[in-house]
Amino acid sequence: MELWYTEYQTSSVGITCKTKKTYHTEKTEYQELALIDTEQFGKMLVLDGTVQTTIEDEFVYHEMITHVPLFTHKNPKKALVIGGGDGGAIREIIKHPSIEKAVLCEIDGRVIEVSKQYLPEISCALDDKKVEVVVGDGIKYVNEHKNEFDVIMVDSTDPVGPAVGLFAVDFYKAIYDSLKEDGIFVAQTESPFFHKDLITKVFNDVKSLFPITRLYTCAIPTYPSGYWSFTMGSKKYDPLETDTDSIPNIDTKYYCPQIHKSVFSLPKFVADLVK
Ligand code: SAM
Repeated sequence: MELWYTEYQTSSVGITCKTKKTYHTEKTEYQELALIDTEQFGKMLVLDGTVQTTIEDEFVYHEMITHVPLFTHKNPKKALVIGGGDGGAIREIIKHPSIEKAVLCEIDGRVIEVSKQYLPEISCALDDKKVEVVVGDGIKYVNEHKNEFDVIMVDSTDPVGPAVGLFAVDFYKAIYDSLKEDGIFVAQTESPFFHKDLITKVFNDVKSLFPITRLYTCAIPTYPSGYWSFTMGSKKYDPLETDTDSIPNIDTKYYCPQIHKSVFSLPKFVADLVK
């Protein structure tokens, strides 16, 4: 018998994948967690019926949420990931030789444990000696750590449940204070096709705090509409002024020096969201 996984991405659109196996399901303190194997995308982490990451396309999201801000910053030493319990962003961060410490603050310890058990390809750096794993609320964490980080990445779930506060202006203010004087932050900000109001709101909130605010996008097949956005707030460095000739070669599949700037060239309908 064929079994298919369906995610209802909006009230009228979804994604359906043929599954091979269900490795694990549980209700954690925070969400419904499932780890399944699919024919097209390989192993897939699902939280509350929403795809978080898959073996086949995770590289796009994890490279783009990390390398764009890290190579925009001239010398990032200390980075923080909020959410991101699968470990993919951490794996990319520690590819940067200048990084001395990377902190992961994930609210749901079960996401970390299940990712370590079933997704070693993604979670493989979580035990690295440069990495500190904190199980706790990212909002509380940034409020308790001031003037500390060079780069902060908000690798959150959609704005529901514990992630609602990760899309609020108060949180961006706390992030601003948690960054050093030349710090940069990036947040995943959903789909330009399906979440237009959210993108406009987050961009304006970030712009009210940071002197440099930029939106960039990339293609992620398993996320709603297959087209995703990230919002960057920077205190000093502008990604459009990065000297891309000086970006060293690191092991990536999506990110490259050419893409570092080209991702900021937005289709007109997306540019219109943040005019
Ligand atoms: N790449 C993914 C996406 O865009 O769908 C996100 C992956 S990551 C698994 C998202 C994580 O954010 C989840 O594991 C969730 O538990 C965590 N999270 C949600 N709210 C949080 C909060 N307030 N503090 C820290 N982590 C949070």
